Amino acid sequence: MNHRGLVFILDGLGDRPCRQLRGRTPLEAAKTRALDRMARLHQCGMMDPLAPGRCVDTHVGAGILLGLPPREALSLRRGPVEAAGIGLDMRAGDVLWRANFARIEAGAGANGGYRILDRRAGRIRGGETESLCAALNSALRDDPLAPGIGASLHAATQHRAVLQLRGENLSAQVSDTDPGGPGAARGVQRAAPLVEDAAARATADAVNRFTARAHQLLSGHPVNTARASRGQCPANGVLLRGAGAHHPPRNMLARLRLKVAVVAGEKTVLGLGNLFGFTCITDESFTSLPDTNIAGKLRAALDALARHDLVFVHIKGTDIAAHDKNPLLKAACISRFDRELSRVQLDDTVVAVCADHSTDSRRGEHNADAVPVLLRHVGGRRDRVRYYNEIDCIDGGLGRISAHAFLCMVLDAMGAAGGMSGGLEVFD
Ligand SMILES: [Zn+2]
Repeated sequence: MNHRGLVFILDGLGDRPCRQLRGRTPLEAAKTRALDRMARLHQCGMMDPLAPGRCVDTHVGAGILLGLPPREALSLRRGPVEAAGIGLDMRAGDVLWRANFARIEAGAGANGGYRILDRRAGRIRGGETESLCAALNSALRDDPLAPGIGASLHAATQHRAVLQLRGENLSAQVSDTDPGGPGAARGVQRAAPLVEDAAARATADAVNRFTARAHQLLSGHPVNTARASRGQCPANGVLLRGAGAHHPPRNMLARLRLKVAVVAGEKTVLGLGNLFGFTCITDESFTSLPDTNIAGKLRAALDALARHDLVFVHIKGTDIAAHDKNPLLKAACISRFDRELSRVQLDDTVVAVCADHSTDSRRGEHNADAVPVLLRHVGGRRDRVRYYNEIDCIDGGLGRISAHAFLCMVLDAMGAAGGMSGGLEVFD
């Protein structure tokens, strides 16, 4: 290997022209002197996170950039990723869900089930969700959902949690109980098997019993009585989505035996790093919001670079600002990143700047647009691109490539792809 590598993933970086920015994208409007200088001296291009026209989420887009085979990326479910993000101890065969503490009401929803009053029991403190989980877990230990099925709920950040089911005959082929963002009016869904087999039926039954037990126990819990008396939303229900079985995923970087570190604040990306066996570096000031400590992330990354071959830095703020339909904030976040980047001594490190997907600030949603990418390879080729943005990068020397191909180019520039001949065809 000739060079170390530093890859910046600016979450949801790609965007469309915005009225508030006089028809420019946030990346065009941002002050990006350092990035533009890099674009002038090196190569740019456009990257499809998965394939042209395919809209993806962070766990798929970032997963591929972190070395997950594209063919397996779509089967990677959110549940196990979130579970790895909170450092949960998992065994092969465990089924895991992303969970939300919510406010629900019995006997009023679809099928005489539960009505959702608030999909996220907001402003909930860490200690509170931990007490709720502990009470529920002890009740589930004393009186299991079904013979041979162990269940436990684990607190994550704010209103989020992870449900873990463990047992002999479980299946992740069950539907969500969370109806999703705009679907709250449909009430808590009954989990149903997605395939006709005994394991899926048994798992769906266990999940439906869990929903009822959780509501019953949480409704009378002192934490919720106290929350109600303070005028806060009681967290008396648990909504589930993204069921996935735990199988350690394959990874190209691990296969190449590279020492990899991930610097991030966001649990999904830290979860991916954990799943792949990378060093995960985080800090309370890495908030995964637009105010995140970018300077601190860069310091941590340079420090990690001394002991690793390849370091990823994930910045979530750009995506959050776009989801909030705030292109000005997104541009400001990019400008701040550029300012901090200009202070870093990069020497002959191979530097890549990319994104896990595009997020449209006008609609507040991800879309399938390709993202601009930049590859700094001292001594490598250059092209005629002068500015790093969605429009200029179309003319770049890297052309239009997939995220997997972009990662291969980074590895090739590092001189780290030499071992790729040995059976890596599975990663095509
Ligand atoms: Zn997003």
